[in-house]
Amino acid sequence: MIVSPAFAGKRYAILGLARSGMAVLESLHASGAELLAWDNREELRDSVADKALIADPLESDLSGYDAIVVSPGVPLNTHPISQKARLDGVPIVGDIELFARARSALPPHRVVGITGTNGKSTTTALVHHILISAGVPAVMGGNIGLPILSQEPLPAGGVYVLELSSYQIDLTESLDCDVALLLNISPDHLDRYDDFDGYAASKARLFDMLGAHHTAIFASADDKSRLALQGLLDLARVEGIVDTASRNIAGQPDWPSLQGPHNLQNAIAAVAVVEALGIAEAQWRPALESFTGLPHRMERVAESGGVLFVNDSKATNPASTGPALGAYPKIHWILGGLPKSDSLAECEPFYQNVVRAYTIGEAGPLFGQLLADHVPVEPCEMILTAVQRAAANARPSEVILLSPACASFDQFRDFEARGNCFRCAVQSVIESGMIGTEGAEATG
Ligand code: ADP
Repeated sequence: MIVSPAFAGKRYAILGLARSGMAVLESLHASGAELLAWDNREELRDSVADKALIADPLESDLSGYDAIVVSPGVPLNTHPISQKARLDGVPIVGDIELFARARSALPPHRVVGITGTNGKSTTTALVHHILISAGVPAVMGGNIGLPILSQEPLPAGGVYVLELSSYQIDLTESLDCDVALLLNISPDHLDRYDDFDGYAASKARLFDMLGAHHTAIFASADDKSRLALQGLLDLARVEGIVDTASRNIAGQPDWPSLQGPHNLQNAIAAVAVVEALGIAEAQWRPALESFTGLPHRMERVAESGGVLFVNDSKATNPASTGPALGAYPKIHWILGGLPKSDSLAECEPFYQNVVRAYTIGEAGPLFGQLLADHVPVEPCEMILTAVQRAAANARPSEVILLSPACASFDQFRDFEARGNCFRCAVQSVIESGMIGTEGAEATG
């Protein structure tokens, strides 16, 4: 666990005792801080009663506290804790900010911060994989893997690779990354911000915290990323500004878990990150080949009868599904769920790769209408039906892709449950020998 003398004798209130909240509590307690803690669940409160005063921060006088620590799941724009913090004059922070404050007591190390609307986890895992392959001690944290404060400190020369959602950046004020990467910005999570500008501004704050001698990398040509890049260039404050939007790297066919234009973008960005850390091509190139990817992101789950089944359940918005459609030339596309918008604009450029679409969930009728003039559509409602229909229609060398462009919550607990359901459905159609039993006409 990461502990720090910076916390000794300080007072913190912790709201929410799930994974990261619990890691915060353990780390602050072991560092000698005085704690007040609260969670709606009684069993969680009881489990920490020997380490913290149990009280609801909303009903406690917090003036004099050093910070209120909340989980990124707490919507700061609507939750009463924001007003309470203002009234008591206490900052609200998250575990990444505490990590930032603990850094001075850690062995010499570097920090990579990775943000963006899509591709954060993939790129974080890839940067981590390249570093480990090159023999550099490294851990992943933030929005991926174990809470950062619960991990063992790295030895000197190590690199902490942090995936940072905009919610986490909102709760961070002093994280000076050695290398900060913005992958892309497209509309998402608009329930948590006043508007798209507010969401983009939240991501750009990662660069406001950057020290003058550190490196900022911008991977995408979208409008908001360009604005953030221009803003940093105009300020002329940070020395290392790298724009990888028009860069290319040869060799993508040799990287099985990095297919599609989006993963090329991720690979180019990851290479820029590790090169900024001093890793040479002879070290990063083999690691692109050996990267195995993450579950539910363009994950190859099975191949049978010449048909490849790909689980991209993590594609929860059209901007992440579009490039998934760009990854293969003949796709049976399963999409739908809880829609985040009434458009599939980012997917349109790739419709020529879609042989047939199979709609599921709440968005089914809407997506059916949007697609009707472009590709054949089968309304399926359920994933199992969609996989059965797609399997029956698919021909050798075609791909059955779940890339829903929607949240999962209309039918599933989360995107992982949706991806697991797809996997089971795939298993069942393979076992029952359904593949290619109908042979739909390809539309090209
Ligand atoms: P995040 O952690 O930002 O949600 P993931 O790496 O988990 O990103 O990928 C989420 C979804 O976005 C996956 O479906 C993936 O295929 C897609 N995706 C990955 N990288 C990109 C990118 N650079 N641009 C657009 N979509 C992407």
